[in-house]
Amino acid sequence: MNHDDLTGRLDTLVIGGGQAGLAIGFYLKEQERNFLILDANQRIGDAWRKRWDSLRLFTPAKYDGLPGAPFPGDPLSFPSKDALAAYLEGYAARFDLPVQTGVPVERLWRDGDRYIVNSGGNRWEARNVVVATGSTQVPEVPSFAGELADSVVQLHSSQYRNPGQLQEGPVLVVGMGNSGAEIAIEVSRTLHTTQVAGRPAGEIPVKHGRTAARYAFPVVRFLGLHVLTLGTPIGRKVVPALKAHAEPLVRTKTKDLAAAGVQVVPRVTGVADGMPVVADGTRLEVSNVIWCTGFREEFSWIDPALLDAGAMPRQWRGVALDSPGLFFLGQRFLYAEVSDTLPGLGRDARYLASKIPVPVTRGSAVAAT
Ligand code: FAD
Repeated sequence: MNHDDLTGRLDTLVIGGGQAGLAIGFYLKEQERNFLILDANQRIGDAWRKRWDSLRLFTPAKYDGLPGAPFPGDPLSFPSKDALAAYLEGYAARFDLPVQTGVPVERLWRDGDRYIVNSGGNRWEARNVVVATGSTQVPEVPSFAGELADSVVQLHSSQYRNPGQLQEGPVLVVGMGNSGAEIAIEVSRTLHTTQVAGRPAGEIPVKHGRTAARYAFPVVRFLGLHVLTLGTPIGRKVVPALKAHAEPLVRTKTKDLAAAGVQVVPRVTGVADGMPVVADGTRLEVSNVIWCTGFREEFSWIDPALLDAGAMPRQWRGVALDSPGLFFLGQRFLYAEVSDTLPGLGRDARYLASKIPVPVTRGSAVAAT
């Protein structure tokens, strides 16, 4: 099928063809719907390809598969980001999912009983829209980053690929989440004096690896999938607090940082004379800064009338509360602690697919809308 022909009027449009968009595509295909997935990237899997070179998933392969296609190979291994990207590309091909790449959606709004989507000169109309644009679209950097001296090389973790991007001299990694801890270790191995600023939001108390994949991950996954959800009293109590915090360290622990000679310093609170200053007032003379300060979800391309006062989705479990036919998938804590990860999004996708209204047809499963 030539997917480029799928323009104009559709039953369902999925915006974002990362793992979340592909997972719901699987169910839409199963339902024989008239649908299309639009993605801004040039190639399926690019969201993963663009991450740093040495990145391996922290989730074992046995939990990294999407609906209908287990991740190939050793189930207790931790795939590289490129292996995951290749898997996603193969997944779309295997199920013949209609994906158009290189299409950044610029506007989404509602007109009567349809949604209108615009990208460049192109326009699509659909009765239903699933927003699956991920939770890592906008890198977060403190406002004072712009005050760093021009001589300092600064990168966000989303721009970091390998230590070759850095110049000679000390490196400050800001933020001690999983990205910060892993990048700090990698950078310290290339003879850079490395400091990491901040405190982790806890550590998973088991050593990461095959044994954890076999025994601990099933427990963690069960908790994240079935206990810490918006459907349980404990989940409703704990999830808002979890949402406000970074994830605990999973693979790289503070003792690994110490062993690698990475110095932990307090939070960065500002910049003085072009150099970062930490909470105890110390000014650090550095040549490189890597901001591992996270991401924010942003929906500025969606008509504010379809969002809440804070420009965020008004939804429960991904179903928009007062915009029939609008759905969200893949956001942090959409329903469960693992909603934005591979072990969690298949279930959310299946649930959403069951909520997308079935078109009224005459003698066919698919409505010609
Ligand atoms: P994305 O993969 O970000 O895909 C969203 C897609 O939407 C992109 O392809 C993008 O091009 C497209 N898009 C965005 N905006 C538009 C637009 N306006 N128009 C058209 N297309 C658009 N999870 C795990 O389960 N295991 C791990 O080990 C793991 N490791 C991670 C490591 C890092 C460093 C990070 C940052 C995240 C990790 N995650 C991991 C979390 C999560 O699985 C990923 O963030 C995942 O990529 C989210 O999938 P997604 O489909 O929701 O979003």
